[in-house]
Amino acid sequence: MAIRSKLVAGNWKMHGGTLQNRDLLNAVLSATADLSGVELAVCVPYPYLPQVQSILQGTNVSWGAQNVSQHEKGAYTGEVSASMLLDFGCRYVIVGHSERRALYGEDSHTVALKFRAAQSVGVIPILCVGETLEQREAGITEQVVAKQLEAVVKSAGINALGTAVLAYEPVWAIGTGKTASPAQAQEVHSFIRGRIAADAAEVAEGLKILYGGSVKAANAAELFAMPDIDGGLIGGASLVAEEFIAIARAAK
Ligand code: PEP
Repeated sequence: MAIRSKLVAGNWKMHGGTLQNRDLLNAVLSATADLSGVELAVCVPYPYLPQVQSILQGTNVSWGAQNVSQHEKGAYTGEVSASMLLDFGCRYVIVGHSERRALYGEDSHTVALKFRAAQSVGVIPILCVGETLEQREAGITEQVVAKQLEAVVKSAGINALGTAVLAYEPVWAIGTGKTASPAQAQEVHSFIRGRIAADAAEVAEGLKILYGGSVKAANAAELFAMPDIDGGLIGGASLVAEEFIAIARAAK
């Protein structure tokens, strides 16, 4: 059985400023320098990538972006390519976040193209999947998640998940203060892993599946204790140094 190390990744969303970023990252760095066996990352707004790179280079915290163009280059005003992210040392990029799907009309086909664009230059996609409250109440959580996953697997191939990270993020838990219970989250994580294992057992065994949705210091440990939860994608709480540090420590 593969032993998966934990990953705790912050999603700053559209928050930050050069002074706040510096203070936040310095606090995280000094409080987590001794933390072994847990990988930390922050996914930041594009303009801060050079700053974040200069602060985090050579430390225990990696960095990434929150979106990427599906195109390699060209006349796509306002877009940022995967090779540009690589140019600024990004290890990760979030693709398919529910805010991108809901607010910017990103469908699963586009998400799959973005996933492939990231992988084509060696940036690791953190692929987000998750159901809305309506879908959960209708009892179709598994179908929704399977469909989102399937779009990427069909396009990129099952083995592409060997160099990716998944994040199960129930939409009803994002930024709402409502967290999935550890059992609810574990149920979906185990479903996802089982589904992948049916086609590629080793890929499934090694795949990190993060949980995201109102994770905070107070609930992180019980979520991370679940066998198929390999860390977290942290929104709001990643902007507060003490919270992010405590969540990182809970992953130990
Ligand atoms: C997210 O944005 O991916 C997220 C999980 O947000 P929050 O932790 O604020 O719910």
